[in-house]
Amino acid sequence: MKLAEMGAGQLKDLLATNKTSCREIMTSVLDEIDRREPDVQAYITLRDPGELLAEAEAVDVRRKRGEAVGPLAGLPIGIKDCLCTKGLITTCASRILEHFEPPYDATVVRKVREADGIVVGKTNMDEFAMGSSTENSAYKVTHNPHDLERVPGGTSGGSAAAVAANECIMALGSDTGGSVRQPASFCGVVGMKPTYGRVSRYGLVAYGSSLDQVGVLTKSMYDAALMMSVIAGHDRQDSTSLPADVPDYFAAMRSQAKYRIGVPHEYFAEGLDPEVRSTVENAIETLRLDGYEVVPINLPYTEYAVPTYYIIACAEASANLARYDGVRYGYRADGYKDVKEMYHLSRTQGFGAEVRRRIMLGTYVLSAGYYDAYYLKAQQVRTLIRRDFEKAFETCDIIMHPEAPTPAFKIGEHSDDPLAMYLGDIYSVIANLVGIPAISVPCGKTKNGLPIGVQLAAKPLAEPTIFTAAQRLETLMHESGAWRLASIG
Ligand code: GLN
Repeated sequence: MKLAEMGAGQLKDLLATNKTSCREIMTSVLDEIDRREPDVQAYITLRDPGELLAEAEAVDVRRKRGEAVGPLAGLPIGIKDCLCTKGLITTCASRILEHFEPPYDATVVRKVREADGIVVGKTNMDEFAMGSSTENSAYKVTHNPHDLERVPGGTSGGSAAAVAANECIMALGSDTGGSVRQPASFCGVVGMKPTYGRVSRYGLVAYGSSLDQVGVLTKSMYDAALMMSVIAGHDRQDSTSLPADVPDYFAAMRSQAKYRIGVPHEYFAEGLDPEVRSTVENAIETLRLDGYEVVPINLPYTEYAVPTYYIIACAEASANLARYDGVRYGYRADGYKDVKEMYHLSRTQGFGAEVRRRIMLGTYVLSAGYYDAYYLKAQQVRTLIRRDFEKAFETCDIIMHPEAPTPAFKIGEHSDDPLAMYLGDIYSVIANLVGIPAISVPCGKTKNGLPIGVQLAAKPLAEPTIFTAAQRLETLMHESGAWRLASIG
């Protein structure tokens, strides 16, 4: 097995026993980038290989001298291009930020670097994290490493594809309505969105501020716990970050607790691909046979989740994206007569079609006369959806269902039909509306070899519960052969 194919856990063991070096790991990842990137197109910006090798060697030198190194020592990490990286272009996959060089690191990026992780490059995404397939990038289309004719999911499609194609060991993404979990499920990797406020968003380009969270994409549960332990915690720079202590996620993974799994029948309804259904049902049954109790639950407001999400997300986006005016950030159009025309031309030329559509939708639902009918109503429904969950969590500890209604679709299949694209988010947007932690774990493949992910969600700050159950599921899936790490070449 190549080093680049291994998870962080295995690599740390090899490093600890001096069976490999950070330089060898970086060399292996750079080889995979050379081999796979022309087809997969996971990165918008890649750092210079010479610099990356020098950084890896510097960590090796410190290890040899017996100096303390951080928990990510020498591991190559991919960073979604909506997270600010000091001195490294951060485009958010938009023309409007084509040359934007942030003057500071996002808190999560700073933490990765302080843990001695090495940032390999900036991964592709849908422009401003709006989409579900990474086709809305202004720069390139990322291809699913399991089937190059298919999308990797979105919007953290570059991060998911980079991890799946071994073009990095772990990656960071962001999740406003499923953008870490859905691409994880399409690419066969683990994707976790923590509780709203668990991880700092300082330096994350804002999309929907009441929904956005930074999340992790990894090859295993161990790696997810490792990355979460590095990035979680309170940050004074982000007033929405929670002051709660970070629990020991590794201890949670060793726990033998058996939890109650709630299964919402509304999530196994019309529109669900039959292979996805049977694979996810099998994952639930696997835990039941292991001693978990399965209880039916009701989440009746699910049918309103997609419209509620799209009203709130677009409203917040229209406000957040007002700052790109051609004055303070990025692109400014030429040939304007006055300041109004400068705003108009810069925004028209700088933003892509989907971003413009959402700014218009958001402005519309917030405008006088429509505010009560749309925005206010959506906020009220959001409260009802949250109550559904509070009630459900009285009888269960974990809610399990498919991450997405289908496996990865073909490139171009939904790109002319925004509504079809939005409806694919049916299972994933709710965790953001409610603010709860949720994970997608690989649980099998279709006959054609496309990965399928199952979602596990729990109460706010109950990440440890998720780690216990998802780790158990991963172990059982490996034992039964339903899923294996590094199953693509
Ligand atoms: N697909 C959803 C959207 O387009 C979610 C995106 C995300 O989580 N950033 O809004």
